[in-house]
Amino acid sequence: MTETRTMILSSAAEVADLRRDVLNGCPWHDVKSMLRDVGLRPTRQRMALGWILFAKGDRHLTAEMLYEEASKAKVPVSLATVYNTLHQFTEVGLLRQVAVDGSKTYFDTNTTSHHHFFVEGDNALVDIPGAEEIVGKMPAAPAGYEIARIDVVVRLRRKGK
Ligand SMILES: [Zn+2]
Repeated sequence: MTETRTMILSSAAEVADLRRDVLNGCPWHDVKSMLRDVGLRPTRQRMALGWILFAKGDRHLTAEMLYEEASKAKVPVSLATVYNTLHQFTEVGLLRQVAVDGSKTYFDTNTTSHHHFFVEGDNALVDIPGAEEIVGKMPAAPAGYEIARIDVVVRLRRKGK
């Protein structure tokens, strides 16, 4: 194998990964330092949404799912705020966006390079474990570009009964 693969992580994403490694103790305190490290002011809404997102391990959430969890947790936010916050977190590398189809975007708290199964019908997004070899051959990037990332979503459906 002489093929080389270039996976470029933005430095913010790398910071987020490092941050994740040292996450311990009080999740509230961790979320605050996580936000500070990426240059986001730890507002009450960012803290509350960050806590819901990051305090439970790796998760895949849509804006609607996060909004629902926030409502259940009595966090007073609008769906628009949830959208804005998710996009801000994504911009600084705390989240990774996974587009499943035109209308459905998931936000992944695991920002490392990995691929997904999407279970049609259940609308569930699941990590594919150890899937580095899922793409057999990398396409050549056009002149002046390099491949930033490869996202693969493998769609599953239950076998016919
Ligand atoms: Zn994932």
